[in-house]
Amino acid sequence: MLEITNQELFGKVIADALTRVELSVTDARTKSRWINAISKAAVEIEENGVFMTWQEDDQSLLIWSQKTNNIYTANGVCQCRAFEQGSACFHRAAARLVRLYMETAQASSVQTEEIPYLKPTVDRPVERVGGIRIN
Ligand SMILES: [Zn+2]
Repeated sequence: MLEITNQELFGKVIADALTRVELSVTDARTKSRWINAISKAAVEIEENGVFMTWQEDDQSLLIWSQKTNNIYTANGVCQCRAFEQGSACFHRAAARLVRLYMETAQASSVQTEEIPYLKPTVDRPVERVGGIRIN
């Protein structure tokens, strides 16, 4: 089961991925396919994350497709028909999004431990100073 605990961070990863495709892919058809694949991946992770497993050791995402009842393991390659035909598929887009998310989440947790003033202050009550919420 794949659980995205930091929705805000995941949203940033998706936005970055879309921007990167927009800036780096010149072929219009390839670009729109990858943008669709990323959008679908974002929805699938949100709705069907329960049927996905991130495998840390080989950095791949296991996806059980309810539609075809196949299990796909995606990192740079995939076993689905779209990949066979050389097309973008949401499995690979999802694997990439999850990998980037995991890397960013790890990097930010290390940073939080090392810099005390960046630690979350969840145990503190919400305070307002001049109408501005602090903490
Ligand atoms: Zn695929």
